[in-house]
Amino acid sequence: MTEKLYYISSYIKEFDAIVTECRKTDKGAEIILDKTAFYPEGGGQPCDLGTINGIKVLDVQEKEGEVVHYTAEPIEKNTAVHGIIDWDRRFDLMVQHSGEHLVSGFINRRFGYNNVGFHIGSEMITVDLDGEITKEELRETEIQTNKYILENHKAEILCPTPEELKTLEYRSKKELSGDVRIVRFAGGDTCACCGTHVDTTAEIGFVKLISVQKFHEGVRIEMLSGRRAYEYMTKATDENAKISALLSAKVFETSAAVQRLLDENGQLKFSVSDTENKLINNIASQYNGLDKTIVIEQPDFSPNSIRKLAAALIEQNSGICFVFSGNDNDGYKYALAQKDGDLRSLVKDMNTKLDGRGGGKPFFAQGSLNAAHKDISDFFKSID
Ligand SMILES: [Zn+2]
Repeated sequence: MTEKLYYISSYIKEFDAIVTECRKTDKGAEIILDKTAFYPEGGGQPCDLGTINGIKVLDVQEKEGEVVHYTAEPIEKNTAVHGIIDWDRRFDLMVQHSGEHLVSGFINRRFGYNNVGFHIGSEMITVDLDGEITKEELRETEIQTNKYILENHKAEILCPTPEELKTLEYRSKKELSGDVRIVRFAGGDTCACCGTHVDTTAEIGFVKLISVQKFHEGVRIEMLSGRRAYEYMTKATDENAKISALLSAKVFETSAAVQRLLDENGQLKFSVSDTENKLINNIASQYNGLDKTIVIEQPDFSPNSIRKLAAALIEQNSGICFVFSGNDNDGYKYALAQKDGDLRSLVKDMNTKLDGRGGGKPFFAQGSLNAAHKDISDFFKSID
């Protein structure tokens, strides 16, 4: 059994130990020490990284009481070693883990729901609940948790006897027996946990509950604590400041300014579409009762307007109608149609000769051509 220094104190950053076993593997080595401060992955908390005698530790897992350090290189048995854990990473994981306990504890007391899933990702922390809470309840949870954090409470680690455990109220994902480790923030949360935690809530700084959405039978909350929460808020503030400057709106009035812009944009789109419809009708009215091929080039027409004009033309003419828009550099969009016609072989021929793409129904094809204007004109002259 490896002596677990991270349970003596979660603030041990460096330690001396002896290699008791070293197993070579295809990828490197599995090293067992007589004692270690490297926390193995468990309880939703990722493992520690760092070095042993300068050799990088790539992963740490607990197997039958042994803490296995996965390294790229072996270290001979009985070697005295010095381990250094990546403290920035570990401290961040402690902060995220303790923050999650306080949030889950508050939700459990206030709404009666249990934490049924917890994951510390490289960017986001997720907490899954077995019941639903609203956005307003999420905000209430955040406010109350931060109030508790600011009161700077201490964390206690308890190892109760089975009798003591029976009288203790605590959260746990499963029924526990034997040695149970309890992490208690008095008045905040009491939970069975094998992870590493901060000594005082001040180290968490604050928690930010980012989102809540339905997940399985309950909800999934995205949250951040400490430095991660601070960096997230800084990014969000900077982004809002940019929007504020772009729209000349006060920072707390950006969403109203965006709404105005969307409304204006909607009106403009409507107005453009109205003008375009009038133009389409106007152009179409100039062609009536023709049975020969009609070719119309309309600069700056959208594919939708091209389609509408072709559709209007075939209502009044029995010949082939070809509408296109674009330029030699960017290519052309087209619609090719004929009332009750079958244009499939013509479209195939055109796509081959004019580097085209597209298709549709036998009587109506739409697509793009990657050919010169002159070649497009010549092609339609040749079929007339
Ligand atoms: Zn925990």
